[in-house]
Order: sequence, then structure tokens, then C-alpha cells
Amino acid sequence: ELGADGLLDRYSLKGQTAVVTGGAKGIGAAIVREFLSLGCRVIVWDMDVSTLETIPGRLEGIRVDVTNQAALEEAKVRTEELIGTPDILVNNAGIQGPTVPLEQYDLASWNRVIAVNLTSVFSICKLFVLGMRERKSGRIINIASVAGIRGLTDGSAYGASKAGVIGLSIGLSKEVVEDGITVNCVAPALIDTDLQLQMSADFIKQSAQRIPMKRLGKAEEVAATVAWIAMPACSFTTGAVFDVAGGRLGL
Ligand code: NAD
Repeated sequence: ELGADGLLDRYSLKGQTAVVTGGAKGIGAAIVREFLSLGCRVIVWDMDVSTLETIPGRLEGIRVDVTNQAALEEAKVRTEELIGTPDILVNNAGIQGPTVPLEQYDLASWNRVIAVNLTSVFSICKLFVLGMRERKSGRIINIASVAGIRGLTDGSAYGASKAGVIGLSIGLSKEVVEDGITVNCVAPALIDTDLQLQMSADFIKQSAQRIPMKRLGKAEEVAATVAWIAMPACSFTTGAVFDVAGGRLGL
């Protein structure tokens, strides 16, 4: 199985294709870099692709708000022109939303966070799952959060949306398990990206102290786990949630 470059093909993404939502910055951009370095061709779906440095034939961007169903359909058509049904789908686009107690949490913000973080994952899986079923292969990797397992103080919709992503992924993993498709989640704790600009410096400092490794994670550390799940070698794992969280809390 050694490829021409002497690397084991089952630990590579050579010749594969991927769609990465929210891939223009933060964790998504780190996933894109990791995939490119492993030989994968990547299409980024993001609201803002202005900063994305495309590489013809290897990295393209499609401007799309993942909550806009019509725009998603168009992005699907454009993607299929470029790469057909992707081998790998990473649903990573997400927002934090307000950080206020539930009684102050407004309904419009709740709806927006659920739409971006959860409903989009449903819609985008739906766009590609049939193609993957027909091809009898596919890797779906959804970026959840430890907030979806443990909850998030002052982040009702965020925690709920991420718990929803986990539930959706586990259910879907069972639906497609006989079609050669795996569906897994990655659940990061606090990662050093712009998403945190919405949280106070104090909150971030305190939260970092509660992580057993006593630091924030790096986008690259999430990307490495995503890459592993996408690799041919990771073939007997589906419906799983991978923590990238610097250790577990409690006893
Ligand atoms: P980020 O804000 O740095 O990047 C998010 C990207 O998603 C941006 O490029 C943005 O343009 C895009 N995006 C946002 N809304 C979109 C929409 N409606 N349509 C299309 N694109 C949209 O965030 P990040 O920290 O890299 O987060 C990536 C994912 O990781 C999110 O799902 C987030 O919830 C999750 N996560 C982050 C952390 C953390 O601490 N940073 C922890 C756990 C989970």
C-alpha cells in the first residue's frame, strides 16, 4: 500500500475530495490546510470567502450562507460540476450567539444560532447523502462542541444546537451504516479562534483554567482529529463523538 511518495495510502487523502463549510477561517481553515497537505481537493462553503486564497484545481471557495436553502442548492450544483459528490463532508460553519442568561436570551438569536449550527447540518447532509449512498462511500464529519455534551452557561441556543448536532449525527450514522458512509462528530472545548471574540476575556481565562491541560486548544489540533476520521484507515468508527478538549473534567 505504499504510495509513490513512500507514505501509506490509508493515512492519506490522496485523490479525495471534500466540502468544508465555514472553511475560510478558524477551525475550518485549519481543516482545509490539513486536507490539502494530505492530497485532498477542497471546496470551501463560507459566507465570506474574500480572504480565501484559492488554488486552481485544489482549493475553491463558494460564497454561501448555510441558512439559505436556495443558496445551498446552488452551491451543491456548482460543487458537483467541480468534484461530483464529495468523498468527505465537514459541517463546521457555526456561530456562538449571545452569552446571556436564558431570561435575557432573545428568540431571534435562538432561531439564528439553531439555523446556522443545527438546521444547516441537516440541510447539507441531505444534499449529499443520496449521492454518497449511491456511490456506497462517504465520510461525514460534524463539528459539535463539548457544550453539546455538558451544556454552556449563558449559551442556551449554542449548547442546544451542538447537542442537536450530536443527536442528528448518531441517528444518521445508523441510517447509512450499510452504505459505506460514516458519520462522526468532533467535540472541541475552547479553541483559540475569532469565535471567542464574543466571550469576555475573564470568561476565557476562567474556562482555560478549568481545562485539565490548562490551556485553550489550537485549530490545528481539531483539524488533526478531523483528518484522522476522514482517512481510509479510520474505517470501523461511526456514530462516535471525538473529544478534542484537553482532558475530562471531574473525578
Ligand atoms: P470562526 O468564527 O473562527 O469561523 C467560523 C467560519 O464559519 C467563518 O469563516 C464564518 O464566515 C463561517 N460562517 C459562519 N456563519 C456562517 C453561515 N451562516 N454560512 C456560511 N458560513 C458561515 O469559528 P471557529 O471557532 O473556527 O468555529 C468553527 C466551528 O467549531 C463552529 O461550529 C464552532 O461552533 C465549533 N467550535 C468552536 C469552538 C471554539 O472555541 N472556537 C469550540 C467548540 C466548537
